[in-house]
Formats: sequence, C-alpha cells, structure tokens
Amino acid sequence: MKVDAFGANGPDTPFAHLEIARRPLRPNDVQIEIAFCGICHTDLHQVRDWPNTRFPCVPGHEIVGHITAKGSAVTGFETGDTVGVGCIVDSCQECEACEAGLEQFCAKGFTGTYNAPTQDPPGYTMGGYSRSIVVDQDYVLAIRHSQQDLAAVAPLLCAGITTYSALKTWKVGTGQTIGVVGIGGLGHVGIRIARALGANVVAFTSSDSKRDEAARLGATDVVNSRDSGDVGRYTEKLDFILNTVAASHDLDPYIALLKRDCTMAMFGAPNKPHPAIDVRLLFRRRRSLSGSLLGGIRETQEMLDFCAKHEIVADIEMITAHQIDDAFDRLLRNDVKYRFVLNAKSLARDKDAL
Ligand code: NAP
Ligand code: ZN
Repeated sequence: MKVDAFGANGPDTPFAHLEIARRPLRPNDVQIEIAFCGICHTDLHQVRDWPNTRFPCVPGHEIVGHITAKGSAVTGFETGDTVGVGCIVDSCQECEACEAGLEQFCAKGFTGTYNAPTQDPPGYTMGGYSRSIVVDQDYVLAIRHSQQDLAAVAPLLCAGITTYSALKTWKVGTGQTIGVVGIGGLGHVGIRIARALGANVVAFTSSDSKRDEAARLGATDVVNSRDSGDVGRYTEKLDFILNTVAASHDLDPYIALLKRDCTMAMFGAPNKPHPAIDVRLLFRRRRSLSGSLLGGIRETQEMLDFCAKHEIVADIEMITAHQIDDAFDRLLRNDVKYRFVLNAKSLARDKDAL
C-alpha cells in the first residue's frame, strides 16, 4: 500500500512529501489511519544530529489514530478502535527482557518505529509523519481518553511513557519531593505524572517564560536553572531527579541536590557529551547517576490508563506538514509549549494547509 508521508532526504534538507510503502497485512497486523503524531526532540536528533540515520527519514513515534483494517488473527482490536503506537514496533518476544515486558531492553534490540532495520521495504522502518501505518497488534495500545483530547494524547506515547516508567522504577510517590530539570515535552508531562503519583515537584527551567506556568503544570516550586544560588536552595533536599535537558550541561549542581542514596535519571541524548562529573558528589552521599529508556508495551498501556484516569494530556501546538522544518527550528530554540503535534490530514501531496 502506498501512503502519503513527509520525510527528510538529509540532515540539512527540508522535509518534503514522499510516497512510502506499508507492508500488506499479516495475520497479526492492524492498519491504522494516523490522526496525529507528536514531534519529539528525538525526531530532531535523528534527522539533524545523529550519524546513523537512514535517508529518506520519516520520523514520528507518538502516533494516535484509528484502526482501518485488521489481519485474520487479530483478537485484541476492532476496526474503528482508537489506538496509539509509540517508539517500539517489534522485538524478539523470547529474551528475558521481552518476557518481563521490558521490550525496550530486548537482547536482540527492539525495532524502533523509525530508522530501524526491518524485512519490509525499504529495509528500515518509517514512522508517524505519515497517513497510515501497519503494526503488529502486540505493539498497539488502546486509548481510552475522550476523542476531543486525541491530539494531546499523542505525546504520551513517548514523553508520557518515558517519564512514567522512570517515576515508577524509582518508586516516586507521596511524601517525596523530586526535581524535574528541563520543562519541555518530557518535562511538562513528567511534572503532571509525578504530581498524580503524589510527589511534590520542583521545576528547574532555563526559560523565564516557563517560570510563571510551572505552577499551572503542577509544580510546587520553580527554580531558575541558570542561577546557581536559586538551584542551591535545594541542596540535599530532593528524593529523585528527572533530567530531561536535551543539551550537554554540567550535572554536578544537580547531583548535589540529591539526598543520601537518591538518584538522578538522565534522558537527554545530545551528541556532545556532558562535562565529566565530580564523583565525590556520588560517594559522599552514596548517590546514583542513572538513566532510563522509554517503557515496555504493558507499562505503556498502564501509563495511558493512568493518564486517562487522572485526565493527564500534553499541552500542544498543532502544526501542518509544511510547518515541520519551522517546528524543528523552534524546538531547537526551545520555543514550544510544550509539544508540537502534526495533523496527519495535512500530509497529502497537495495540501498546503488545513
Ligand atoms: P524538549 O521538548 O526540547 O525539552 C528539553 C528541555 O531541555 C527544553 O524545553 C529546555 O527546558 C531544556 N533545554 C534545552 N536546551 C537546553 C540548554 N542548552 N540548556 C539548558 N536547558 C536546555 O525535548 P524532549 O522531547 O522533552 O526530549 C528531551 C531529551 O530526551 C532529548 O534529548 C530526547 O532525545 C530525549 N529523549 C529520551 C528518551 C529516553 O527514553 N531516554 C525518550 C524521549 C526523549 P527549559 O526551557 O525548562 O530549560
Ligand atoms: Zn520520543
């Protein structure tokens, strides 16, 4: 099946209309008409920063839409169902990690929704900046939010699960005070989820314009991350830190904020490494520096249901296909509150705008 999509032909090439192939339905597959796709900072890294990109690249792993067809063995979904697809579209399903529902750590490597090797043409996966996608039902999520929230649910498929999984892993909950560093796509959803789990949240932001909004997002306090005095107010006071900053930066001032035995988890994937840390900050309080990657399929469903129950969605700015380059530029300038979401109806060749 040929499908309208928008992709980049190189790191410095503007996005353009493409016609891409989707595989014929296998027995366990569903075909999804994509309604909306979030624009994650990883999409930008993949197209512009990272050296391993296969071009043309069609990014997008925050996909929501409706099932339009299903294979003969599909039992979990019906045509018309509202569903989502996140960052993972396949894995070996037999290693210890897959058995534990941790497909993101599949021993053979999970198949990412874009830029991952696959048997299907053209030999690597193409993501959600497209009109339709074919996915094995085992990697498809049920969406129970109301239809009017659908566009704002899309970012949960990456930003939501990535932060939720870490908050659960480090058992964040009532009575704790945690820090969220970087209030972007991941950070703003992370604040909402952490609050719903019962924690107090201190937002660390470098953007003046986000300071006033931090309380609306649920933060109990806000700190100017460019002001060492302000940051220092939380020295040895935090139970956990979710660090979502997308750029290389000095980690020591944040490690110093952790209580004894507590952890800062890293998410950002900048090309340039962070400066070396002062390990004395770790051993003097037995602190940990760790990281977290996405979340498994089972946990993604749990997160979606948790967010539906707590009425958590992302704050979004809707764009059309011809605004993708501008959205990437603005994302790099840190000029979005807080996630761009692409309206997939605008992807047809002749659509200038909706
Ligand atoms: P984003 O929307 O761009 O948010 C990142 C935030 O970091 C910005 O809003 C900004 O927050 C802060 N920031 C950016 N540049 C900065 C700089 N030079 N100095 C200080 N602060 C800066 O990105 P995102 O989509 O949330 O993704 C964040 C990172 O996580 C990316 O690197 C992405 O690839 C990665 N990621 C990882 C995973 C995983 O599983 N590990 C999953 C998804 C994404 P303030 O304005 O508040 O300072
Ligand atoms: Zn992502």
